Amino acid sequence: MNISSFHPPERTLMGPGPSDVNPRILEAMSRPTIGHLDPMFVGMMEQTKTLLQYAFQTRNELTLPVSAPGSAGMETCFANLVEPGDKVIVCRNGVFGQRMTENVERCGGVAVTVDDAWGTAVDPQKVEDALKTHPDAKIVAFVHAETSTGVRSDAKTLVEIAHRHDCLTIVDAVTSLGGSELRVDDWDIDAIYSGTQKCLSCVPGLSPVSFNTRAVDAIKARKTKVQSWFLDLNLVMGYWGGGAKRAYHHTAPINTLYALHESLVLLQEEGLENAWRRHDLNHQALKAGLEALGIAFVVDESCRLPQLNAVSIPEGFDDATIRKRLLDEFNLEIGAGLGDFAGKIWRIGLMGYASKPENVMTCLAALEAVGLQSSGSAIAAAQSVYDRAD
Ligand code: PLP
Repeated sequence: MNISSFHPPERTLMGPGPSDVNPRILEAMSRPTIGHLDPMFVGMMEQTKTLLQYAFQTRNELTLPVSAPGSAGMETCFANLVEPGDKVIVCRNGVFGQRMTENVERCGGVAVTVDDAWGTAVDPQKVEDALKTHPDAKIVAFVHAETSTGVRSDAKTLVEIAHRHDCLTIVDAVTSLGGSELRVDDWDIDAIYSGTQKCLSCVPGLSPVSFNTRAVDAIKARKTKVQSWFLDLNLVMGYWGGGAKRAYHHTAPINTLYALHESLVLLQEEGLENAWRRHDLNHQALKAGLEALGIAFVVDESCRLPQLNAVSIPEGFDDATIRKRLLDEFNLEIGAGLGDFAGKIWRIGLMGYASKPENVMTCLAALEAVGLQSSGSAIAAAQSVYDRAD
C-alpha cells in the first residue's frame, strides 16, 4: 500500500449542511489536545455551556453538547423522555419528522403521526385535533426547520398547544440554531437539540441540547432506566453538570469542542439577532437572483427558511448533471431533493459562514454559466437587494 495524506478540495458548501467552516474554527481545532479532565479544559466547557445558553436563548442548566452528530441529540431527547408505552404526537412534514417516529418506536413508545405535505409547515390545528383525540399523549415532537424541504414551522404556537394539553415538547433545531429566530425560554420549549454543522458553521460531530426543569423532572421521575447508557443524561451530567465533580463518562472529543467554542464565540461577537438578520438578507438577495433566472421557490414565503432555499429545477435541466457541473467546474456544492422531491428540487443552503454575499454571487454566476438564462442580470438583481439594505 502507498496511501498518502488526504487533502480535500476547497469547496463552497451551499447544500443542506455541512456548511463552510470559518477558518478561525479550523484553526481552533488544531490547537494542542489536552486531557478531558484538565482544569483548563473544564473551564472551557463551562464557557461553552454559557455560550450555548446564549445561542439557544435559555437559562436551562441542562444545556450541553452531546458528543455525536444531530441524530444523537435527537436520540438523547427521545431516549431520556420516552418510556415504554408512552404516547408521542410526532409531526411529519419531511424526512426528519419520520426519523423522530423511528426514535419513539425504538424507545418502546407509541407514535401518533400528524402528517402535513412536504413543503408545508406543521398545521397547528391538526396537532390540536390529535391531542384532543389522544388525551393520554405525553409528548409533542416536531422539527422547527425542516432541512429536507426548507420549511419553518411555528414553534411558539405548537409548544403553546402542547402545554395546554399537558404535554412536553421535543423540538428539532438542527437547522434553525444560529440561523433564524429561536427562543427556547420565551417559547417555553422543554427539550431541544441541534447540530454544529449548519448555521453555527462548525465542523460536524456535536449536538447541542437543552432541557428545562419540566423535562428534567420527567427524566428524574422515570420508572425505567434510560435504555442507552451513552445518552443517559443522568450519567452524562456527572461530567457536564454545573458544579458536578467532573467524573469520567466518555472521552470528550476535545478538539471538536474547541471548534464549537470558537464558533459560539464568533456568534457572540456578531450578536445572535444580527446573525438572524444576515441569514435573512442573503436569502433575499439569492431569491432576487434566482427569480431573475426563472427559478421558483417550493415553499410559501410565510414559512420559508432563509438558510435553506428549496427551489424547483427548471424544465429542461437535469438535476444530477447540473450539480456535477457546479461541483466539478466551480467547486460549488448545492443539495439534491430527497424523497418525493428527488430530481425535482435543489436545496441551496446559506448557512452560517456560508451565508454571505460572495457565496450568493458565486452561486448565481455559476448557475448562469451552466446554462440558466436570466431575464436581465441575476447578479444585478441580488446586488440591488444589498444596495437597498445599506
Ligand atoms: N434534523 C434535521 C432537521 C437535520 O437537518 C439533520 C441533518 O441534516 C438531522 C436532524 C440529523 O443530524 P446529523 O446528520 O448531524 O446526525
